[in-house]
Amino acid sequence: MLSVKDAQTIIFNLVQPLQHPQDTQVGDLSSINSILATPITSQLDFPHWDNSAMDGYAVRYADVETASSEQPVILEIVEEIPAGYQPQSTIQSGQTARIFTGAVMPKGADTVVMQEETRRDNNHVAILSAPKPQEFVRHQASYYQAGNQLLPTGIRLNAPEIAVLAAAQCPKISVYRKPKVAILSTGNELITPNQPLKPGQIVDSNQYALAALVRQMGAEPLVIGIIPDEKEALQQAIADSIANADIVLSSGGVSVGEYDYVEQIITLLKGKIHIRAVAMKPGKPLTFATFAHDKRSILYFGLPGNPVSALVTFWRFVQPAIAKFSGLADGWQPQFINAITTQELRGAGKRETYVWGKLSLVDGLYHFQVAGGGQSSGNLINLAQTNALAVIPVGEKAIAAGNGVKVLKIIS
Ligand code: AMP
Ligand code: MG
Repeated sequence: MLSVKDAQTIIFNLVQPLQHPQDTQVGDLSSINSILATPITSQLDFPHWDNSAMDGYAVRYADVETASSEQPVILEIVEEIPAGYQPQSTIQSGQTARIFTGAVMPKGADTVVMQEETRRDNNHVAILSAPKPQEFVRHQASYYQAGNQLLPTGIRLNAPEIAVLAAAQCPKISVYRKPKVAILSTGNELITPNQPLKPGQIVDSNQYALAALVRQMGAEPLVIGIIPDEKEALQQAIADSIANADIVLSSGGVSVGEYDYVEQIITLLKGKIHIRAVAMKPGKPLTFATFAHDKRSILYFGLPGNPVSALVTFWRFVQPAIAKFSGLADGWQPQFINAITTQELRGAGKRETYVWGKLSLVDGLYHFQVAGGGQSSGNLINLAQTNALAVIPVGEKAIAAGNGVKVLKIIS
């Protein structure tokens, strides 16, 4: 049985990220969550022009360097410059222009005196204190120059990046297409949430949880639905998934039971099985395979059917794999945090144990609290409202309350 670390190395190394230009499409300023496929270079200087950072008066520093409330400097106001207006005059010695935040600096002026340091009298103003040279002037190109790179490739577009694109007048951009993730649930006992529950049946919750996670990651779920434990049906469903998706997630049918056909079908369809089991709890039966299809490698994750096992293996392996596949250059790896456990955490000896619960910040320190109601991999009910998985290493029987523990933050 593979260790979690070895399984992770195998999986992450087999992920071939989407490529430029064949996997790209045109994005725009609503492409939130998309991954940028080409770098953005500024065509403009930022700021575009020397402009004022304050409401006040545009002055020549040399005119006002001695100004004080006892000996104010009186200047003549020759122009009023609101934002968006092109100044007409050149400020001469003894002159000033009334100016507002964001407005273009007039020629001749090099400094802005804030309004609070002045006293106006019709077309004259008294400067009551000496500013610093060039104070409150935002100089053209002082943030960025035309030709500089504003955004690198491989980053996820969130609100700040979208603001940058808008400001740089880049309304059309190249982004990676969304990864397509096929999701199928296997099991004769499964019904949909709308079907009446008959004895022995179980509602398929994995399909919905996995689709939600895939969507949250900015990928596109292709929901195949419930497949009975019959070889032909499963073969057809997996073959269709490989043909239509980049990544396939099945849940169930990977244990050692009589009706667990997933591995057989993968082999039948010429998939290469890299992982048959992982030394982790929950999640031991995780199966991982690749299929060669159209010069691409389709990733196949056979997740265990137990709802908690399916989600824990998703968070630990599938989530980073989707993030890497989607073209994200950095930060796709699982993120662990050091926390203090508020209760004793019990390990499963030979398997790396994942305990679900809640991470919270208390006086600047992360605290981890185990979800109440027991840690059964079939009990998805207490998975609600959890946001983290504490990791108990192999060989460690327990981590006592008050001690440090490594915690995986999860999207939920
Ligand atoms: P399996 O991995 O197929 O042996 O399933 C393990 C357990 O998970 C069984 O109790 C199944 O009924 C349950 N299970 C399998 N698939 C799902 C699913 N899609 N949604 C909820 N429970 C499931
Ligand atoms: Mg099953």
